[in-house]
Amino acid sequence: MYAKVIIEYGAKAVDKEFTYIVPDNLKDKIKIGHRVKVPFNNKLIEGFVLDIKDEYGLEYELKEIDSVCDEKPVINNEMLYLGTEIQKQILCSKIAIFQAMLPKALKASHNTNIGIKKDRYIMLNVSYEEASNYIEKCRFPGQVAILEELIVKDKLLITNLTSSVNTLIKNEIIRFEYENVDRYVSHTTGKYKQVKLNNMQEEVVSAVDLNKHDTYLLYGVTGSGKTEVYMELIDKVISLGKTAIMLVPEISLTPQIVDRFVTRFGDQVAILHSGLSDYEKYDEYRKIMDGKVKIVVGARSAIFAPLNNIGIIVIDEEHTATYKQDNNPRYHARDVAILRGKYHDAPVLLGSATPSLESFARANKGVYKMLTLTERAGGGHLPKVTLIDMKNEVKRGNFILSKVLTDKINEKLAKNEQIILLLNRRGYSSMLTCRDCGNVIKCPNCDISLTYHKSSNTNRCHYCNYSIHNVNKCPVCGSNNMKDYGLGTEKLEEELKKIFNARIVRMDMDTTSKKGMHEQIIEDFGNHKYDILLGTQMIAKGLDFPLVTLVGVINADMSLNVPDFRSAEVTFQLLSQVSGRAGRSELLGEVIIQSYNPEHYSILLAKEHNYLKFYQEEMKIRKVLNYPPYFYITLVNITSKDYEIGFKEANKIGNYLKNNLDEKTKVLGPSMANVFKINNVYHYQCIIKYKFDNKLNMILTKIDELYKTNNQVDISIDVNPIRV
Ligand code: ADP
Ligand code: ZN
Ligand code: ZN
Repeated sequence: MYAKVIIEYGAKAVDKEFTYIVPDNLKDKIKIGHRVKVPFNNKLIEGFVLDIKDEYGLEYELKEIDSVCDEKPVINNEMLYLGTEIQKQILCSKIAIFQAMLPKALKASHNTNIGIKKDRYIMLNVSYEEASNYIEKCRFPGQVAILEELIVKDKLLITNLTSSVNTLIKNEIIRFEYENVDRYVSHTTGKYKQVKLNNMQEEVVSAVDLNKHDTYLLYGVTGSGKTEVYMELIDKVISLGKTAIMLVPEISLTPQIVDRFVTRFGDQVAILHSGLSDYEKYDEYRKIMDGKVKIVVGARSAIFAPLNNIGIIVIDEEHTATYKQDNNPRYHARDVAILRGKYHDAPVLLGSATPSLESFARANKGVYKMLTLTERAGGGHLPKVTLIDMKNEVKRGNFILSKVLTDKINEKLAKNEQIILLLNRRGYSSMLTCRDCGNVIKCPNCDISLTYHKSSNTNRCHYCNYSIHNVNKCPVCGSNNMKDYGLGTEKLEEELKKIFNARIVRMDMDTTSKKGMHEQIIEDFGNHKYDILLGTQMIAKGLDFPLVTLVGVINADMSLNVPDFRSAEVTFQLLSQVSGRAGRSELLGEVIIQSYNPEHYSILLAKEHNYLKFYQEEMKIRKVLNYPPYFYITLVNITSKDYEIGFKEANKIGNYLKNNLDEKTKVLGPSMANVFKINNVYHYQCIIKYKFDNKLNMILTKIDELYKTNNQVDISIDVNPIRV
């Protein structure tokens, strides 16, 4: 018997499939999908069994599989199928996809010792009668106490061994019993109450055919009750004896959704997200593998949850960029969802108030089925949005807060209502500059300026984490006339504390790096321990606080100034999302957006809550510029530590693409990537735009293969990139 084993080999995660002999002692045990240890280059490494055969055609000498790592296979048939299909779509190594599907504890060769945690109990090993007899004869009160307790209690948790326990074990009066422990315990506030769906929600629910695969787009304004619709559909699916996946952008940012699911569905739910430790993830994952749960709520990688008999897959906030993994394997959860939906013949439901242009265009063409919810379910109204032109404010000396926003904050504070302020940049200020010579403090490894963090008095690189402490002299001219420019959340917090007599809390990557801090801040703000919540875009999503009546966007242009074809879309989405946080109850909500480009259509139309108009405007631009959804894009990234070699190879690749792809396909570049140097590595890119090119896969695979053995240049291929 022979097994084909795939291993991860080398830093470039090259796929290597090798045939090994299955030794006699493993013949009954081993199955396709098992994780095994095999000898490779004089070492034992882990891999996955992809195939098992009785015969092996070739003649050369084979090695034996050393051992099987787990009782059951960790890769099931569906995962094998997904591995093959995803590889075709995104051209990455198959092993990388399998590794991405599994929690750390089950990946191959990651040398973890994440095991199952067990609690140790003691129980009687004899009849009650024999135990009573023992008690009568026993002269040791410690032993007697234990036995008496066991007669009434069945079992006792033992954390440390006493001599009484040891003696009773030795005398075989009691025995040990071990039970698996779940290290993750989801907690709920219990605040969620199930509602009765309104007619529009009912219509959406009944429009989804649970008995066959189709992809639906639910376009529903913020607060229109999409989440209630998801839960209703999932409820139906469960009662049909099936299972469901519910994806949310990043759970640690949306604890309120988890709360609703756990309250409604109890221990039928498993939670998978990055806020869990690897131990907790393993425990949650095993619950899914063992068929103990019916619903998986999780972030991107939860799309691979090994549920059987899936009845629906829901992706909330489907436009969110985090659904695409931005390193290898660069898969998009939406595409995986559709593959799995087809496999299980189950519907996939994408939901958003601001769908991605791609999805909305597909729904318009009938590729997806369009469902809509046009009104807020709780009866609330979409908030009134005011645009403030900061060019005028700056003339009056208002650099951070406009007069209108300051007045409004005071007004809300006086009424004891809550306020959310968005500023999409963390740190204190964006750069430190010398006033005498104009020198900007930059990262020595990257192509960008360092961000000043006042609390730690450091200047940090947000790309490579380089930091320097306490710069008060210009390194170029020695002057100490240093000035910081640009506004970050840390400085905004400081300013707010000076101006307002209010309880203020900041939420960004710096204040939430400790586990559980997100949840804590959200819970405390929800309990009105704070009046003002300020933060980066992580505050924009999914939060539902009835007392929030004012949302302020400090600088709406930040995302607009990013050089990327999606910048208008991202801006529109972010402004709509954050506006949606206001006025979600009976209290009327207001939004104030500060901008230096208030006439930009993405900002104007966000003010009017006019997604459809935005869609039309943006589609015109995409059409003229040959961008998605009119054209597909694939990016070839060429990186090298050597500027010259990178440049030379990038040109070769560019020429090769131009000469070999279909003549209707457009190849742009090679050019320098937006941030050209990151961590001393130079980034070049070629952009390929196409509608249909049946040579593309083959050509890209060829290039990829060619450079796998090149250790001066790295190639990565990004199909449908999020940023260009
Ligand atoms: P979305 O996911 O579209 O933002 P939610 O499902 O979170 O909307 O609903 C927004 C608010 O409206 C929530 O507070 C929710 O409890 C409430 N809600 C939803 N559906 C109904 C309904 N049918 N009747 C009353 N309130 C509802
Ligand atoms: Zn200087
Ligand atoms: Zn850097």
